[in-house]
Amino acid sequence: MTTVAAEDVLAVLKRIAAPDGRGNVVSAGLVSDIAIQGGTVMFALTASQQHMPAMEMLRAAVEKAVLGIPGVSKAMVALTAERPAPSGQATPATAQRGGAIPGIKHLIAVASGKGGVGKSTTAVNLALGLQSLGLRVAVLDADVYGPSVPKLVGLSGKPEASDAAGKKMKPMRRHGLDVMSIGFLVPEDTPMIWRGPMVMSALTQLLRETEWSPADVMVIDMPPGTGDVQLTLAQQTPLSGAVIVSTPQDLALIDARKGLNMFRKVNVPVIGIIENMSYFVCAACGERHEIFGHGGARTEADRIGVPFLGEVPLDKELRLRSDAGEPIVASMPDSLHSAIYRDVARQVWAALEGGGLARPAPRIVVDGQPPVAAS
Ligand code: ADP
Repeated sequence: MTTVAAEDVLAVLKRIAAPDGRGNVVSAGLVSDIAIQGGTVMFALTASQQHMPAMEMLRAAVEKAVLGIPGVSKAMVALTAERPAPSGQATPATAQRGGAIPGIKHLIAVASGKGGVGKSTTAVNLALGLQSLGLRVAVLDADVYGPSVPKLVGLSGKPEASDAAGKKMKPMRRHGLDVMSIGFLVPEDTPMIWRGPMVMSALTQLLRETEWSPADVMVIDMPPGTGDVQLTLAQQTPLSGAVIVSTPQDLALIDARKGLNMFRKVNVPVIGIIENMSYFVCAACGERHEIFGHGGARTEADRIGVPFLGEVPLDKELRLRSDAGEPIVASMPDSLHSAIYRDVARQVWAALEGGGLARPAPRIVVDGQPPVAAS
C-alpha cells in the first residue's frame, strides 16, 4: 500500500489557485490542519463568510485533486470560517456574529464547562418548557463531539432536501419542535481532531440552509467545554444569551465559571446557571439525598452575580424517558421535573423579552495590564 505524505498533498494543492487570484491555496495560507490516516486525507480550507459559494466549488475541486494522489482513498475537506480576532482585541462582536436567522427571534446557547453534566437533556427539556408557555421553538444540536439530541427526542434518519436542487434542508420534527443536528452533516466516523475544524461550516449550513419554521426561540445544544471550538461558535452565532448547566460538584463549578468567562469574552449575556443532578429523592423512603453536596451552583451564581435558574434533581424516570426519546416535559408534564423545567423556561423567556439582558462591556487588555471594562 502506498503511504501518503503531507508533502504530496501540499504539492498537489500548490497547483490550485486561491479564489482571489493571489497565488495558490497553500501560499495564500488557506490550508491548515492536515491529517492523514491510512488512505484518508483531511484538512481545512479557510473561507471568508461572503465567499462561501465560491469556496464550495473550490472545496469540490480540491477534493478531486487530492483523490488523484496515489494511495488516497478518501479526501475530507472542511471549510472553516476565518479565525476570529485574538481575544482582547476590541472587535465589534455583532459585526462578527453574522446576521440574524430569518424567522427566528432569539437564539440561546445551552453550554457546560465539561461533558456528562446533562447539558443535552437540559437543552431538550428547556425547549419543551418554552413550548409549554405557548412559544414556537426549534432545537439545534451543535454538539459535534456527541450529537445526542436526535436520540433524546426520538428521531432517526436524515433530513430531506426541501427543493429539487438539494440546496435547502427540511428540519426534522418531533414533539412539536423543529430539530436539526450537526450529526446529520458530520459523519460518525470523523476523527475527534477533525471535528473542531468542521464545526463552523456545518453549523453555518444548518443555521442558514434549513427551512426553519418561524420560531420565538431556537435552543442550541453547544459542544461541552470552553475551548477554541466553543468560543468560535459563541462568537459567530447571533446569540441572544446563554444558559450554563453545572452539577453541584466543585470541579463542575470551576468549569461552569470557565463557561461564564467564555461568553463574557465574546459579549454574550449569560441568562443564568442551572444546577443539574442537584439532589436525589429516594422513592422508597422519600428522603432527599444530596449526593454531590448541594447548593454550590446557587452560592456560586450569587457570588459572581449571575441569576440562578433552578435545580433539577437526579431522577431515574428522567433518564429512562430521555433514553427512550420521550423527554420528561413532553411525556410526564405533571411531574416535579417538568414543573422545574417550565419554571426555568419562564425565567429564560422573561430575560429574553424583558430587556434585562445587558451585554457586558467588552474587556480590553492593554500591554499585559489587568483587563479593564471598556466604557
Ligand atoms: P451532556 O450533554 O452534558 O453530555 P447528557 O444530557 O447527555 O449530558 O446526560 C448524560 C447522562 O445523564 C444521560 O444518560 C442522561 O439521561 C443522564 N441525566 C442527565 N440529567 C439527569 C438527571 N437530572 N437525572 C438522571 N439522569 C440524568
